[in-house]
Amino acid sequence: MSIIKHFIDGQLFEGSSKRAGKIFNPATGEETSKVNLASKADIDLAVEKAKKAFQDWSNKPPVIRARVLFKFKELIEKNSDVLTKLIVLEHGKVYDDAKGSLTRGLEVVEFACGIPQLLKGEFTENVGTEVDSWSIRQPLGVCAGITPFNFPAMVPMWMFPIAIACGNTFVLKPSEKDPSCSIKLAQLFKEAGLPDGVFNVVNGDKEAVDALITNKDIAAISFVGSTPVAKYIYENAAKNEKRVQALGGAKNHCVIMPDCDLDQAVNGLMGAAYGSAGERCMAQSVAVAVGNIGDQLVSKLSKKVEKLKVGPGSDKSSEMGPLITKEHLEKVKGYVDLGVEEGAKLVVDGRNIKLQGYEKGFYIGGCLFDQVKSNMRIYKEEIFGPVLSVVRVKDFKSAVNLVNNHEFGNGTSIYTRDGDIGRSYSNQIKVGMVGINIPIPVPMAFHSFGGWKRSLFGDQHMHGTEGVRFYTKLKTVTSRWPSGLRSNPEFIMPTMK
Ligand code: NAD
Repeated sequence: MSIIKHFIDGQLFEGSSKRAGKIFNPATGEETSKVNLASKADIDLAVEKAKKAFQDWSNKPPVIRARVLFKFKELIEKNSDVLTKLIVLEHGKVYDDAKGSLTRGLEVVEFACGIPQLLKGEFTENVGTEVDSWSIRQPLGVCAGITPFNFPAMVPMWMFPIAIACGNTFVLKPSEKDPSCSIKLAQLFKEAGLPDGVFNVVNGDKEAVDALITNKDIAAISFVGSTPVAKYIYENAAKNEKRVQALGGAKNHCVIMPDCDLDQAVNGLMGAAYGSAGERCMAQSVAVAVGNIGDQLVSKLSKKVEKLKVGPGSDKSSEMGPLITKEHLEKVKGYVDLGVEEGAKLVVDGRNIKLQGYEKGFYIGGCLFDQVKSNMRIYKEEIFGPVLSVVRVKDFKSAVNLVNNHEFGNGTSIYTRDGDIGRSYSNQIKVGMVGINIPIPVPMAFHSFGGWKRSLFGDQHMHGTEGVRFYTKLKTVTSRWPSGLRSNPEFIMPTMK
């Protein structure tokens, strides 16, 4: 059985711990490999190598750093099939979806290729007589990323390409459930000419995370994962004087107005609720049926959910793959049981699906609940599986109140033909990413990604210009030329006369 190691200072590294995690192929349920789980000593070694590499890398002109990124982009394109197959093998999502997620990560690399332009500062001539002032953004040092299982390529790529383009060095701790893609990306980055130690990947669990958040040489931590862990990392990394952005869980609402193009909305919802088996932080897990649209919506949705083609991600005809682990499958099934107990109407039940030849895979079919109420746990909590809840409300105002009262605020969409309603919704809603007739409003790489409320702890969103701000600190220089004594000492705050 293959062993997945760490990648430190430009090479694969066994690590010092005797602990290992199991990696499964979710499509078959087979254990495919083991992953070495880092000890504190392994983390400290990676940080030490990254700290050393920072001295040279941070001094390289941005245009030189950009050239390495251009080459990295080419290598990702050349190896996209290999990377996609790794995602399918360890995560389970269907091939085209996996490839799409890799492309969204690649777009962040493309954005980071523009780093010479992005790092241009501001200059003011003559802020005082013969005094000039300029602001620059400088790298922070060693930055760390801690990422979830559901996007093994894309989410790490929200972080490290921009951090490294800005002149930082990086230690990534990917999910221990599907770590191979990160190792492959690190190898490709090295092949692109990245000096050793600039990008390191250390596999591990809580022990590795705790070693990262307490290491005094780490300047900043980017986290993406569930809300309880996001809050833990935000609080503890900040206590250890680090800059932190910690993105958490979600419960995304899709509001269906009675005037919308219902077929368009239903198709949008199908992809957004059941794509990647609902294991997306931007999955639409609640459909809010406004006014009298509920019966038609549920009727159209149920026909499509029943026909969802569930199968292994490697089969091109599958629309939805398995869940990540057996434990997660049990958890999602448990939520469906709970919904029935709570009194919601289970219109489509995917719990008993059987796939010939894949009996041990972690599959569940699409599930659809109607008559879900806002006090039910299946409404309040993130399920992270292919379970869509329909909540019926009387009018637009009630829909806005429902969404705004939820603890999460990652993404939301509205389907309507009314421009006033669309604009009011985007204006009033307390959510970070909003779609109007767009089912999954994930911002492009040159905009920034992040939610509100308990979906994000910290101030800056990921990638785009917010990403550049997160991975740099501002310095403002004021200088006088020619130099020389111009006046006697002054003890008052300088102001322009
Ligand atoms: P998770 O929180 O279990 O794990 C995320 C990372 O934290 C992993 O690297 C894991 O090793 C580490 N970790 C887990 N438990 C820890 C602990 N107790 N202490 C320290 N570190 C710990 O999340 P997951 O199950 O891998 O991913 C799914 C979650 O991620 C969902 O809640 C989903 O909404 C969220 N997510 C959010 C976004 C976003 O942008 N907001 C994007 C993707 C996923």
